[in-house]
Amino acid sequence: MMNLLSQDRCKNKSIQNDVIHDFYFITIDSDLHVSVGDIVSEGQVLTSNSQKHLLTHSPVAGIIKEIQHHQQKSYLVLETDKTILPQKYELSTPVGFPTSVLIKKIYNAGVNGLEEHDDEYTVHEKLTKAYTQGNIDTVVINAVDGEPFVVGDYVLLLEKTREIIQVAHQLRLMLGAKNIIFAISKNKQLKETIEQFIFDDTKIVVELNSCYPLNSDKLLINKLIKKELSKSKLCSDAGVVVFTPTVFYAMYEALFYNKPVTDRVITVDGAYSVAHGVFRVKLGTPIAKFMRPFSVENSYVMFSGGPLQGQILEKEKGITKNMNAIMIFEGTNTSPEKQLCTYCSSCVEACPIRLEPVKLVDFIECGEYDRAFVNHLQECINCNLCSYVCPSFIPLGKIIKEGQMIKKDPFNA
Ligand code: SF4
Ligand code: SF4
Repeated sequence: MMNLLSQDRCKNKSIQNDVIHDFYFITIDSDLHVSVGDIVSEGQVLTSNSQKHLLTHSPVAGIIKEIQHHQQKSYLVLETDKTILPQKYELSTPVGFPTSVLIKKIYNAGVNGLEEHDDEYTVHEKLTKAYTQGNIDTVVINAVDGEPFVVGDYVLLLEKTREIIQVAHQLRLMLGAKNIIFAISKNKQLKETIEQFIFDDTKIVVELNSCYPLNSDKLLINKLIKKELSKSKLCSDAGVVVFTPTVFYAMYEALFYNKPVTDRVITVDGAYSVAHGVFRVKLGTPIAKFMRPFSVENSYVMFSGGPLQGQILEKEKGITKNMNAIMIFEGTNTSPEKQLCTYCSSCVEACPIRLEPVKLVDFIECGEYDRAFVNHLQECINCNLCSYVCPSFIPLGKIIKEGQMIKKDPFNA
């Protein structure tokens, strides 16, 4: 793991609500629940993907104006009806409901898809498995610093501590767990804020040194309870459920207010950006309009996500559920030219999973997926540290991720 230069000026910012826009661009999943011309209410399901267990709800009341296609994606264009006031969600207690009903409620609220972490399981799958296994000992709030600049989870936990503790406590009851751990990077203000709300010994705050990618759930579990989990295992196999503050807060709104996910918290920042901040934005918010106040010039390039794992932002028209940050960097959107490997082994030294990225890439590029698999291709957590340290600018992390998608498991194929 690696201590990366961390710019955390946004940690001192409060979450600002974005303005209401005239139009929203909702990425269409496989199933469409509305048609052009339909009048929709805020919170209504617009699109879903049953295979990926995704549901996307309308961020505002309005009318479906058209379906647009852009760079192999399709979007619902939703025109806001500004005469209709934002939906008010009434408090409703989850106490007394069976766990299976509450897990379904979380699913129906569209919490799946907010996850940014390394495993492939949805919130719903993790909760269902944890409940049916009946072995959960600890509920973990994973607020450890991740990529540099990306601080939305930190700010959300600082501002919504009471709510996140409340839903963590509810989850502990639902799953029959004993303890709740707040895993945070060393930070006096956050630790003291959380401890103000802790009144019994079932909850503790564990402070850790910031070391990317310690925020990966499985590395974190290894650090907290000394259990090593392979990629194919769920955290619940170690008796733990782990979610980020973003997911906990969405579960809070689902369980205590019947509110579906219609917005999310994102960080705007970057090495050369003049503007920065943490914002609550509605899903489908037009990115061009949202970024306009920051006067992003043509010489800047925008990333969706952090500087290590992020993707150049050119495909999406609207904010999506898994978009935790927009980073602005100086430069063009072309990567430095890839050079020949010098066998310096920097990528091997950097890998937190003790893989040999250079070897995996050789196998993938030769189409030898079985050999890549034997060398633990599937254990890669896609942290991208190997690419970050490579002096030859070889996009190791990207090639490995693509290799993982091409060949899941040659022995079960
Ligand atoms: S191979 Fe690269 S991307 Fe995968 S875990 Fe190792 S350093 Fe991270
Ligand atoms: S860091 Fe780059 S140059 Fe060095 S061994 Fe790995 S792939 Fe080769």
